[in-house]
Amino acid sequence: MITDKDIQKKQRLDFTSAWTYDPAPESSDHVTISDKYDLFIGGKFVEPVSGTYFATVSPSTEKKLADVAEAGEKDVDNAVKAARTAYDTYWKKMSGRDRGKYIYRIARMIQERAREFAVIESMDGGKPIRESRDVDVPLAAAHYFYYAGWADKLDYAFPGRKTQPRGVAGQIIPWNFPLLMAAWKIAPALATGNTVVLKPAETTPLTSLKLAELIRDADLPPGVVNIITGAGQTGSAIVNHPGVDKIAFTGSTQVGKLIQKSLAGTGKPYTLELGGKAANIVFEDAALDQAVEGIVNGIFFNQGHVCCAGSRLFVQEGIADALIGKLKDRMETLIVGDPLDKNTDIGAINSRAQLDTINGYIETGLNEGADIYQCKCDLPSSGYWVKPTLLTGVSQSHRVVQEEIFGPVLTIQTFRTPAEVIEKANNTPYGLSGGIWTDKGAKIFKISTKIRSGVVWANTFNKFDPTSPFGGYKESGMGREGGLHGLLPYVELI
Ligand code: NAP
Ligand code: MG
Repeated sequence: MITDKDIQKKQRLDFTSAWTYDPAPESSDHVTISDKYDLFIGGKFVEPVSGTYFATVSPSTEKKLADVAEAGEKDVDNAVKAARTAYDTYWKKMSGRDRGKYIYRIARMIQERAREFAVIESMDGGKPIRESRDVDVPLAAAHYFYYAGWADKLDYAFPGRKTQPRGVAGQIIPWNFPLLMAAWKIAPALATGNTVVLKPAETTPLTSLKLAELIRDADLPPGVVNIITGAGQTGSAIVNHPGVDKIAFTGSTQVGKLIQKSLAGTGKPYTLELGGKAANIVFEDAALDQAVEGIVNGIFFNQGHVCCAGSRLFVQEGIADALIGKLKDRMETLIVGDPLDKNTDIGAINSRAQLDTINGYIETGLNEGADIYQCKCDLPSSGYWVKPTLLTGVSQSHRVVQEEIFGPVLTIQTFRTPAEVIEKANNTPYGLSGGIWTDKGAKIFKISTKIRSGVVWANTFNKFDPTSPFGGYKESGMGREGGLHGLLPYVELI
């Protein structure tokens, strides 16, 4: 029997499929990408000692964008020495007020060149231009503005104490928010008087290299910021260099554990921002359409390449069918494709390796007995793509529920009581973030205090602000970045 609900659903689908958008590509004419990039050490671009370069490709076209230098141990050593000289010669002697001026300059220059950074981020990493333009680049600038403000106010940050910089900070970042992660690392380090050796991820080096050009143009004293490219071995050489006084790492839990092991016993302080498997919890009294937007934003934003992605959905039993129906309808309206098209909601998967990982997890989910729903969208013929995916019929013990997939794949489970969902939400090795959707403020407070995660959003998801600390519990890492808390790892209090 055809019910009113079926008719309404059909009307909704007819309505959405009646509309298609003409392509609205962002121009890349104003962007200059060199054929070859060297290492930024001591304020200049220098060739790597080994003479080795590797290619960075666009994941949406699979075409090479540039060759990038691979830093070996000798290059890491040169970068650390340049950072040490800059620390002793200029940076530790400079007043906070003057350091702040340089950081403000970086912020303003990022704003001036925002379009260029956004386009390069989308070309090199695959994320939709709407995100790089509206999220990555403005938030990166905001981070420099925020920490510039702290540079001459450190006495107020830690009342009654004096701060001393740690010296040379070694910083290693992942590929999901390249320019933003560089800002999370560089801005607080400079504000507190440290100098920096930073390594971006192998697949997304270009905005860090453009940032190196910007830092050179901003006239920062040479060696205050050094940016060296390379793969895992370059990162490892930074971690193990005896001249580095502090390590800041964002990346996978697996590599975080390796770093922890290599630093054990050295006394070198470190912060680790690692993986996540966030629970996004929807109660029966939630505003469903709003929750659907939050779920879509939580897992499909940036192709699910988000450490705090809402990758596990928990729906209260009474609304499960209605909510999942609405979610499927919404998924059919998502546009997957060219990252430079302003209509695109979901861009390319960052690399072939990550594509294989995500497809491997989808297969694992099916082998474990999950049911799959993927949106019917067409995918481009070249590049790395995954359709937004739901896995239902899963349980706590399934690997797809326990492990970080880092792609646009959402597992869905139901629950009856708050106690049950708290137990399930906390039952993973991770604890980075979470979300709650309900009409009741009291429920928000009650549940959020019991979720063992660094961030819990209420009736929203994936909201960031430089003034707010961010970081994980359990295997999601240690230490906090952002806000006042983000200053602490870069200073010794005396
Ligand atoms: P990854 O493989 O751990 O890599 C992170 C960075 O570490 C890259 O620059 C990588 O270089 C480098 N690296 C690899 N092996 C290393 C080693 N042995 N020693 C030192 N450095 C090494 O992580 P990813 O795949 O790039 O990023 C995804 C992960 O980051 C996810 O797990 C995600 O949850 C996490 N993440 C966490 C946060 C947070 O704030 N908690 C934020 C963003 C991402 P190459 O890439 O060149 O190999
Ligand atoms: Mg790339």
